[in-house]
Amino acid sequence: MDDGTNGRRVVVGGAVCDKGRLLAARRTAPPALAGRWELPGGKVEPGERVDEALVRELREELGIEVEPVARVAGEWPLTQELVLHVWRARLLAGAPRPLQDHDELRWLAPDEAFDVDWLDQDRPAVAAVVETLKG
Ligand code: C5P
Repeated sequence: MDDGTNGRRVVVGGAVCDKGRLLAARRTAPPALAGRWELPGGKVEPGERVDEALVRELREELGIEVEPVARVAGEWPLTQELVLHVWRARLLAGAPRPLQDHDELRWLAPDEAFDVDWLDQDRPAVAAVVETLKG
């Protein structure tokens, strides 16, 4: 099956939205990325669906339950082996806490969305999601 990833492993980022705001998470590692902000997520495991991986990663990293809503159009190469996909997700339960990989979280209203230093590769998806929040 052609899933459009050309054999690369998918990293899924979650654009978690609640009450018209978008969740941003500040990375603690690796050193080159520490202090920058991302859509939280991680690598899809072999045999796992991307939306399942998103639910698992956000449970592990933030202690929340989310419902994947839809994939954001586009994909962003990270390395030769990794490609980023982003899904919009709705917060179902829990208050996010930085349990792993992050040291700070923020809920951003649309007019604050670019107040944080997002990872470059996350910016196009953030921009697309912010448009849906404004709508
Ligand atoms: O979170 P994790 O370290 O598993 O992510 C794997 C890679 O995906 C990292 O290199 C990270 O920079 C990248 N990533 C990203 N944007 C995200 C989540 C992860 O570029 N929203």
